[in-house]
Amino acid sequence: MPLLDRIAITHRYTTLPSGFYRYVLPTPLDNPRWVIWNQPLAERFGFPGNANQSSELLKILSGTSFAEQFKPLAMKYAGHQFGIYNPDLGDGRGLLLGELISDSGSVFDLHLKGAGQTPYSRSGDGRAVLRSTIREYLCSEAMAGLGIPTTRALGMMVTDTPVYREKVESGALLLRLAETHIRFGHFEHFFYTEQHDHLQHLADKVIEWHFPQCQHTKQPYLAMFECIVALTADMIAHWQAKGFAHGVMNTDNMSILGQTFDYGPFGFMDDYEPGYICNHSDYQGRYAFNNQPSIALWNLTALAQALTPFIVRADLERALEQFTPRLQSQYSTYMRAKFGLVEKYPEDGAFFNDSFAFMESEGVDYTRFFRALSCLDSHDSASIIDLFVDRTKAEKWLSEYLLRCEKEALKTPERCEQMRKANPKYILRNYLAQQAIDKAEQGDFSLVHTLADVLKTPYDEQPEYNHLAKLPPEWGKRMAISCSS
Ligand code: AMP
Ligand code: MG
Repeated sequence: MPLLDRIAITHRYTTLPSGFYRYVLPTPLDNPRWVIWNQPLAERFGFPGNANQSSELLKILSGTSFAEQFKPLAMKYAGHQFGIYNPDLGDGRGLLLGELISDSGSVFDLHLKGAGQTPYSRSGDGRAVLRSTIREYLCSEAMAGLGIPTTRALGMMVTDTPVYREKVESGALLLRLAETHIRFGHFEHFFYTEQHDHLQHLADKVIEWHFPQCQHTKQPYLAMFECIVALTADMIAHWQAKGFAHGVMNTDNMSILGQTFDYGPFGFMDDYEPGYICNHSDYQGRYAFNNQPSIALWNLTALAQALTPFIVRADLERALEQFTPRLQSQYSTYMRAKFGLVEKYPEDGAFFNDSFAFMESEGVDYTRFFRALSCLDSHDSASIIDLFVDRTKAEKWLSEYLLRCEKEALKTPERCEQMRKANPKYILRNYLAQQAIDKAEQGDFSLVHTLADVLKTPYDEQPEYNHLAKLPPEWGKRMAISCSS
């Protein structure tokens, strides 16, 4: 039986009216071959263990040969890019091949990124380079390992097709899985083109597919929007807690399910630096790390605007007002877990503020700092003090922290064990991604595989990979990544 016949595939997006998408076949690339195949994820969709050895499957999933099980299409959407509305967006280089049904019955879009031009490509070539594909593969899997809502990566292929950016690079393909590829920008497109029937149809389908719990509420559209506000707040709180900066929070890169989406010039902070800008083209710092909460609210306001034809403005405003308290409450939960402080005391706020101000003034490594705090059951205080330049101040801070910990019900070993579940040892530092890319461009994919493996369980010690949890070298800090991908 052909391998694809064993996979449950559906096509619910094609039930939408034609204005939502265009059917487009992938444009084949030369000599596609697997860089990496996400076997554990693939198994959840019924792919057998050796699926990546099937040349037939490789040809189909790379878009080299046609399979009748798929109905590739490019979605139409629009969006606000750096605050300016752009009506001309859509899948310019990625195609929805179909939707896969997981073993637990959930439906996931299977999207092939880098598949060639579409009616929405504008002047783009429809391709993706190996460099950006590796970054997206590794980061989406790293985020999943951290427990942050995200799209997933099923596999990645490299090809012999040259792709022209600042230099000639290898064309690559990413197989992305996501519960949806519907973005804030989908709603904006139908609002700004005044296609209010389509807008409402989209909302109805989003509720049916993704928020069925809203169907029987008094105001299903408002309930849907409230869910999107809550999910977005939770995602951003989690980003802030783990030190992740997305880099291009345009409304076309915002999933309506609050999942981290469209990885571009993202970065995990090395030194604690609230104003960290990871996107080389973000001259104003619009998408700086500490702006992410307010930008998410700005994006939700843009989405709210698109929903005004069928939700009363005052209701939308009330829903938007829920964003900041929700985010702050989630963030506070994450931060308390990071410090291992469960009990609440009035003086905690001041302690957190002082701690962050100290971390910032010292430029301490964010991830290493919290991981070291989580290991005080087995390491001595030098593991913390050594991270700071001002050792006297660091000692004073640490004794204050330890004094505060004494007020906790959990004793040090138990507290530290809990803290290690909130403070990863391994993150996808930009310099590590860069090293994996440099090797991959020489044909050596070993570091891609190693990082993918290690980042699956970032809270585990994995002592054989200590070198991947080291402080970054000077050249690797504050790397700003170009948008070109
Ligand atoms: P991004 O910056 O990747 O979120 O993409 C913004 C828009 O540009 C989307 O509509 C993409 O589909 C489109 N796009 C990005 N890169 C390309 C490319 N190489 N060819 C065609 N369209 C692209
Ligand atoms: Mg995008």
